[in-house]
Amino acid sequence: MTHPAQPKASHFINGAYVEDTSGTPIPVIYAATGEQIATVYAATPAIVEQALSTAKAAQKEWAKMTGTERGRILRRAADIMRERNHELSVLETYDTGKPLQETLVADATSGADALEYFGGLAGSLTGEHIPMGEDWVYTMREALGLCVGIGAWNYPTQIACWKGAPALACGNSMVFKPSETTPLCALKVAEILHEAGAPAGIYNVIQGMGEVGAALVTDPRVDKVSLTGSVPTGKKVYAAAAAGMKHVTMELGGKSPLIIFDDADVENAVGGAINGNFYSSGQVCSNGTRVFVQKGIKEKFLARLAERTGNAILGDPMDEATSFGPMVTENQMNIVLGYIEKGKEEGARLICGGKRADMDGFFVEPTVFADVTDDMTIAREEIFGPVMSVLDFDTEEEVIARANDTEFGLSAGVFTNDFSRAHRVIGQLEAGSCFINSYNDAPVEAPFGGVKASGVGRENSKEAIKHFSQVKSVYVRMGDVEAAF
Ligand code: NDP
Repeated sequence: MTHPAQPKASHFINGAYVEDTSGTPIPVIYAATGEQIATVYAATPAIVEQALSTAKAAQKEWAKMTGTERGRILRRAADIMRERNHELSVLETYDTGKPLQETLVADATSGADALEYFGGLAGSLTGEHIPMGEDWVYTMREALGLCVGIGAWNYPTQIACWKGAPALACGNSMVFKPSETTPLCALKVAEILHEAGAPAGIYNVIQGMGEVGAALVTDPRVDKVSLTGSVPTGKKVYAAAAAGMKHVTMELGGKSPLIIFDDADVENAVGGAINGNFYSSGQVCSNGTRVFVQKGIKEKFLARLAERTGNAILGDPMDEATSFGPMVTENQMNIVLGYIEKGKEEGARLICGGKRADMDGFFVEPTVFADVTDDMTIAREEIFGPVMSVLDFDTEEEVIARANDTEFGLSAGVFTNDFSRAHRVIGQLEAGSCFINSYNDAPVEAPFGGVKASGVGRENSKEAIKHFSQVKSVYVRMGDVEAAF
């Protein structure tokens, strides 16, 4: 019998599901059991062509609609997503293995927030009037044209919406390629957008591995590329986009610092560290995986952290009581277990976890290492799994220097009850998305993105509009034209 997660077809192009079984088969594996639940086929060159030509042809008419009309469609799509939240959350859980307890509140709901927010902004995108004496200049905020979105596997619904909603609000069309690991959810986003009234060809989804992404990025018809992925992939995609002088947004990896001062509220700091390391089993780009704890509070912090981490409920992700799911794939589980072994070999002190959980599926126990030093591999490389490194520090000046000593710059957090210090420290941290006495909140109203190797551009908020549109400036002369001859 066909599994309920099996999509109608692999791709969604020009307002309809499209299949081409001559592409490479991509098995979809449910991370909680290791069972194959669906198959999709990678896009062939013919499918890539169909998606790009369709999106290119549809964009001009879409851009001619008023912003209010486009926004109404996005807001209708948001309503449909909310109505179907349960069904979409179950699919997200099948796609990623993340527990339903999370997907019910963090995936289709945050996708709907993006559709609603950018739908609301669409009607207010305007240029300005610049007086020049009798003459004047006016500016127009225009669409870029055809945008490509390429997603990572940790938030397949959210990434498809975070890229699609601002792109469409500005009058662009999109071809979105999900990660081959999680191909299911973006198809539902496309289906819902079209049900809500998006014209055929405005939002298309095609499947495939890196080569399909590369074919999209290098196509001369594409005006913008927005990638969520790792730093090595980001460097390749950025270079390929630069060769065609395309706009880019790069949302890449991190190894973010979370700094806890002696005067912090211990329960809140522990809660922040848990949210910033173990949500989605640690598969979150902005995680604060280098937890710097001032020496005076260290043992108290570690004791409460171990106690509360022991309350994580590993189990069937479809059971709403489960609070901690598996790694997305067996491969990702092995990468994470490799880092855990490295941490042990390099002399970090294991506080809890530290191995594969004794159950079906790709579960790794939530793991905390203490006495981690800056040079250890687990303190330098992005693990993308539930492995927290706790490092000690003495002074504010010292911790700022050490926190910034990394190629990454996605996020940073500070826990302290001294508000002058909180703002002073955050002001000096090299990161794009920061938190004071909190960690990992990502509302659509706030800009999201990194500095240094963690990326360029911003998603969400009004900032995203700047990255999906361009400004045309028009000089208007009222009098005669003076010329030299
Ligand atoms: P990857 O970088 O491996 O892949 C990202 C996407 O790019 C995938 O769809 C992948 O295809 C595609 N891709 C790979 N090579 C190319 C290429 N040459 N040209 C075009 N596209 C290509 O990342 P993961 O999927 O492993 O995701 C984990 C990473 O994503 C982590 O580093 C994490 O930090 C980052 N991330 C960043 C976020 C942010 O907002 N800053 C949020 C979430 C994750 P495929 O894999 O299917 O072959």
